Amino acid sequence: MGKRIFIVLLGVPGAGKGTQAKMLQEKLGIPQISTGDIFRYNLKNQTELGLLAKRYMDAGELVPDEVTIRMVADRLAQEDCARGAILDGFPRNLEQAQALDEMTAPDGGVSLVPLIEISDEEAMRRITGRRVCRQCGAVYHIEFNPPKHDMVCDRCGGELYQRDDDKPETVRNRLYVYYKQTSPLIGYYFCKGLLVRVDGSRPIEEVHQTLMHILAERGILPQD
Ligand code: ADP
Ligand code: AMP
Repeated sequence: MGKRIFIVLLGVPGAGKGTQAKMLQEKLGIPQISTGDIFRYNLKNQTELGLLAKRYMDAGELVPDEVTIRMVADRLAQEDCARGAILDGFPRNLEQAQALDEMTAPDGGVSLVPLIEISDEEAMRRITGRRVCRQCGAVYHIEFNPPKHDMVCDRCGGELYQRDDDKPETVRNRLYVYYKQTSPLIGYYFCKGLLVRVDGSRPIEEVHQTLMHILAERGILPQD
């Protein structure tokens, strides 16, 4: 088996990490791992993990590292990650980044870290207009990427909803937490030669093409 590929998508909440991770997942055939999605899934199913995470998510704070890191380690050990993963929302601080380095060490570590850049004002617009399918998790925007029918998912017909933590009060704290805890990862990955900046203000398809171009250029598309 060849080396596994680990792509870490960085960027403020609302930058488009989830949107791009889903598109890359389809194109590359390696799974998206979104820690936020895993917490929300657990919350929906009322598991112990979900109830623990809820307190932090409602406040826009990070769920404790020991819980989050173990959850990702378990997820990366699953069979569908045999060729690697696209990480979206993890790592979110230096401790998590170091833990990820250890988990991926046998494969030579993280492969690439695209930083999707948008302004804070754009982040606010994107998050407050975001709507998510309750059933399949597809992500829409009421203005920039609207569903064909109001509040109904194009893909599965599920109901669209606004995440509790996408309300303006919580969004401000999530941005604050990003700058305080997550933004040091920009320097961390830059020093490892893994950071590549991508203009996230461009339309969704254009950002995707840019990412695909960068992956091809760096020779990190998965081998069949
Ligand atoms: P993140 O995972 O980084 O928090 P999402 O992928 O959920 O961000 O995107 C946030 C919101 O912005 C969603 O409503 C999504 O539809 C919209 N969006 C994502 N990428 C773009 C883009 N390039 N242009 C306009 N809107 C976008
Ligand atoms: P997201 O879906 O990435 O916007 O994440 C939503 C919320 O889930 C965050 O505000 C945190 O409360 C929690 N969360 C997601 N990923 C992590 C992580 N890597 N570490 C800690 N908390 C996280």
